[in-house]
Amino acid sequence: MTVIEPAPHHSAVAVPPPLAARAGAVGGSPVRDILAVTARPEVINFAGGLPAPELFDREGIAAAFRDVLAETPAQALQYSMTEGEPSLRTGLAARLSARGLATGADDLLVTTGSQQGLSLLAGALVDPGDTVLVEDPCYLAALQVFGLAGARIVAVPGDADGVDPRALEELVVRERPKLYYTVPTFQNPTGRTLPVERRATVAQVAARCGVWIVEDDPYGELRYEGEPVPWIASYPGAEDRTVLLGSFSKVMAPGMRLGWLRAPAALRRACAVAKQAADLHTPTVNQFAAARCLTGLDAHLARVRDVYRERRDAMLAGLPGALPEGTTWNRPQGGMFLWARLPEAYDTTALLPQVVRQDVAYVPGAPFYAGEPDRSTLRLCFVTQTPQEIEEGLRRLGQGLRS
Ligand code: PMP
Repeated sequence: MTVIEPAPHHSAVAVPPPLAARAGAVGGSPVRDILAVTARPEVINFAGGLPAPELFDREGIAAAFRDVLAETPAQALQYSMTEGEPSLRTGLAARLSARGLATGADDLLVTTGSQQGLSLLAGALVDPGDTVLVEDPCYLAALQVFGLAGARIVAVPGDADGVDPRALEELVVRERPKLYYTVPTFQNPTGRTLPVERRATVAQVAARCGVWIVEDDPYGELRYEGEPVPWIASYPGAEDRTVLLGSFSKVMAPGMRLGWLRAPAALRRACAVAKQAADLHTPTVNQFAAARCLTGLDAHLARVRDVYRERRDAMLAGLPGALPEGTTWNRPQGGMFLWARLPEAYDTTALLPQVVRQDVAYVPGAPFYAGEPDRSTLRLCFVTQTPQEIEEGLRRLGQGLRS
């Protein structure tokens, strides 16, 4: 007869295995950390990239959800296809085509925010150790996505107008990157816009040297002055190698978590497979509701632009009195952000706590740099507050920087 021994008693408890190396290598967003500190209602927050909540089209969005649930509840509350709701993709394709980029519904993949588009692209294109080129400074959460994918991130030099196409070409030839990530219009964090001629050259570089261009455009429709500039995706040479990302976050509401990706077929299919693995599909009911809201979107955008233009102007008017002598800043023609450079002696990361004590906040520029950071820079969001609040916020900012 077999005697079953009791399992040996372990006095020590074994620790579970460690996190993946990439999880430890990429930190959380410093912007989120700042937002946590500045959640006090008395803080005038120029740090977050938050659309003005009072401008959300609450009535229109509520009506869209009501109608969707009254008329097509069985479809709207059901699982749906990974590529996205045909009605939404058809409406989006018509908007893109009307702006000069011929697009069919099948060219688009609906994503859960454009942030997911970035993750899907990283999954579809980037192996650990691959090189990714980015602008300097660069949208922070893109640095996170590519970092998590194990990419080697290399910054391309530029100036106040954006990337230097010659430097881009040199780096593409030397580093053999998989992709170049760019926000060419009203960039986050700088608010700058890449001029037409440089767009054409970037497209030529991609054609000549062979690299994917990821053109991220959540802000392009928020133009307050000047002529619209075509997407890089529409320039000769770039058509078959550019991925265009769009978002409903800044034109409708970020809580909808809706974005889209326009990409050549093979890459789009790879992204769809990655999306199946990530979340099967983007919430159906949100897609149905957003498709209905597309009809009123241009009228809504016209209202938003008028208010945001006024807020940008309020910030531009208040900056000379708030920022120390020798500071420079830009005058973005649209979007949500402007970028300032204080005199060299100022370190905006070190200064932030004393500024927050005055109940106002900005984002220091340093975390946005993949290359050598310029520590005297900062990002200000000008759309969230009223002109009066902006004026008061800038008064506090001036006080904080002087104290
Ligand atoms: N790209 C850029 C440049 C952004 O600034 C943002 C949001 N701040 C995103 C992508 C992500 O936007 P969402 O996922 O809300 O569409």
